[in-house]
Amino acid sequence: ASLDERTRALVDRREAVLSPGYRLFYAHPVEFVRGSGTKLYTRDGDEYLDVYNNVPSVGHAHPRVTAAIAEQSALLNTHTRYLHEGLIDYAELLLGSFPAALDTLTLVCTGSEANDLALRVATHATGHRGVIVTENAYHGVTTEIAAISPSLGGADSLADWVRPVRPPVGDGTAMLRDARAAIAELQAAGHGVAALIVDTAFASDGFIPPSPGTRAALVAVQRLVHDAGGLVIADEVQPGFGRLGIGGPGSGDGAASLWGFPRHGLEPDLVTIGKPMANGQPVAGLVARRALMQAFGERVRYFNTFAGTPVAVAAARATWDVLHEDRLPEHAAVVGTELRGMLDELATRHDRLRGVRGSGLYLGVDIVDPATGDPDSPAAVNLVGALRERRILISASGRDNAALKLRPPLPFSRADAERFITEFDAALSELG
Ligand code: PMP
Repeated sequence: ASLDERTRALVDRREAVLSPGYRLFYAHPVEFVRGSGTKLYTRDGDEYLDVYNNVPSVGHAHPRVTAAIAEQSALLNTHTRYLHEGLIDYAELLLGSFPAALDTLTLVCTGSEANDLALRVATHATGHRGVIVTENAYHGVTTEIAAISPSLGGADSLADWVRPVRPPVGDGTAMLRDARAAIAELQAAGHGVAALIVDTAFASDGFIPPSPGTRAALVAVQRLVHDAGGLVIADEVQPGFGRLGIGGPGSGDGAASLWGFPRHGLEPDLVTIGKPMANGQPVAGLVARRALMQAFGERVRYFNTFAGTPVAVAAARATWDVLHEDRLPEHAAVVGTELRGMLDELATRHDRLRGVRGSGLYLGVDIVDPATGDPDSPAAVNLVGALRERRILISASGRDNAALKLRPPLPFSRADAERFITEFDAALSELG
């Protein structure tokens, strides 16, 4: 589609001043001026259904969150070196959702910073440097964390102290075998093992739901890492805060948790959180065992200017309150299961759809070549663009860039799910 004059002009101005590293979505870019709940609106008032954005987890422009930010901004905004009860209240509440051993919070501003700090703590605590990651993981943008994120550029971009392993698919034995080899290699190279880090939804590795096999494998890998003197970091930046649904079917005894790690049988030493934490304000954190942070704190002065300010905490607290009062994790389990059912039904009618999977409102589905069953990235990209024209926001990801990733704001309703399915059905039919 040729671009209208305003869009063309904005794209040109953007290209002239912004880093090319910032990618713009869509051949036909879209400009939003307003959001509400699960909807975004253009200047002309066109309404788009958001099936993409997990950060505004309690809904775009939630009035409780915006009011909390406005009220606190009008009163006071400083740093964490003065006493502020709001921060302490929030830390107590948040830590109450973790196993008792994970009892210490450090606030930061981004998921990348949280992972960077986790890794720094792990290298201090263990005296080792080596890191084990899953083979298509993404953990963030700092130099250190880009070097442990294979999805950014394949194995070539990884630091020499990083070893990628296959994710826990199937019976999980491939991961266990790879981890054993990785540990031996890191030890032989003199790096030792500082940490295993896993995204507990394994989103960029293709969404791997827990099963008895994957649980056994992850628990065994965790034991190998601990035996090698390393620590386990659970990256909950995307799956955390109830996105996987509470009380949903098939997620095991960890299903009562806001977090992904218990579903996999993991007992992490460090947990990183972020994205949905404050509904869009830059608030993230590291939750860890006290002894680790004690030892780190004795050697390192850690001050993060914008982290844990009264305004940041007000946004996080209001988000937490809405999440719980509106029972959004329970809602995610119910609507997520309905949406999965609708996708399963769609897959019976469209042989381009395979492998509907995920939990709560964090779902993935593969787009394949119907003739070969192979991942079909051009078709997935085409569908994302076709859905944009149908005013549905979604993205493609995964190692082959052929998996559609569904992770809407948590108030996503059954009616929203039906609207999405109607448009997806039509776009699939058009694609043929
Ligand atoms: N970990 C995971 C699993 C993520 O998905 C992301 C962001 N996509 C990050 C870490 C990095 O978070 P941020 O962009 O806030 O730095």
